[in-house]
Amino acid sequence: MASVILNGVRKTFGAVNVIPGIDLEIESGEFVALVGPSGCGKSTLLRMIAGLEEVSGGEVWIEGRKVNDVSPKDRNIAMVFQSYALYPQMTVAENMSFNLRLAKKPKAEIRERVAEAARMLDLEALLDRKPGQLSGGQRQRVAMGRAIVRSPKVFLFDEPLSNLDAKLRVAMRAEIKQLHQKVKTTSVYVTHDQIEAMTLADRLVVLNKGHVEQQGSPLDLYNRPANLFVAGFIGSPA
Ligand code: ADP
Ligand code: MG
Repeated sequence: MASVILNGVRKTFGAVNVIPGIDLEIESGEFVALVGPSGCGKSTLLRMIAGLEEVSGGEVWIEGRKVNDVSPKDRNIAMVFQSYALYPQMTVAENMSFNLRLAKKPKAEIRERVAEAARMLDLEALLDRKPGQLSGGQRQRVAMGRAIVRSPKVFLFDEPLSNLDAKLRVAMRAEIKQLHQKVKTTSVYVTHDQIEAMTLADRLVVLNKGHVEQQGSPLDLYNRPANLFVAGFIGSPA
């Protein structure tokens, strides 16, 4: 079953036509990377899936429900950004449980979910620390933990690793991959880093100026780029 469906989704900002119209289906459990150069509309598209940006036209479906008029918190999605946006005055555990507490989940259930996420992300020893006492990689893991505890149907990632140094980026890539193998949550991952996309994703969607140039498995796109833009972006074989 398709988890996320975009049907002729468009976006204009004033007179600027940023996304002329995109059709896309993402299967349940699939890991899809939206790739393309800076300014091509990746974040805008992701934000429309999240409900943080209204569509100018077309339909967004999540888990069989048209969500055009559904608020972000009722879309069953969780988003991880490049700026972790953790609450500095709260501990790791409090940061991770914040949305569950807002949703008035039972205390025992909150404790259990936070413990489970902490185990998965190797955060157990850090639960009482404040974000200021963590490294960049640890903070990014807390941000992911905060997303996971809500058991969303869809994870949306917007360049989550771009603030980390190169070495940490590679390590976190592996963690995200492992995490997806464990939880199998449908994931839409935005990046301008083609290597990151190729390592992580089942399928790449290459965007250029708000439209899809080509989509397919990393190997397909690498071996059979449809045009020079894709070849240049993915890096064609010598
Ligand atoms: P990407 O994430 O691929 O770098 P964005 O989705 O952020 O690209 O932006 C796509 C285009 O839309 C850019 O030209 C950007 O300047 C424009 N844009 C994004 N957000 C707004 C906004 N709120 N108002 C006007 N233009 C915007
Ligand atoms: Mg962006």
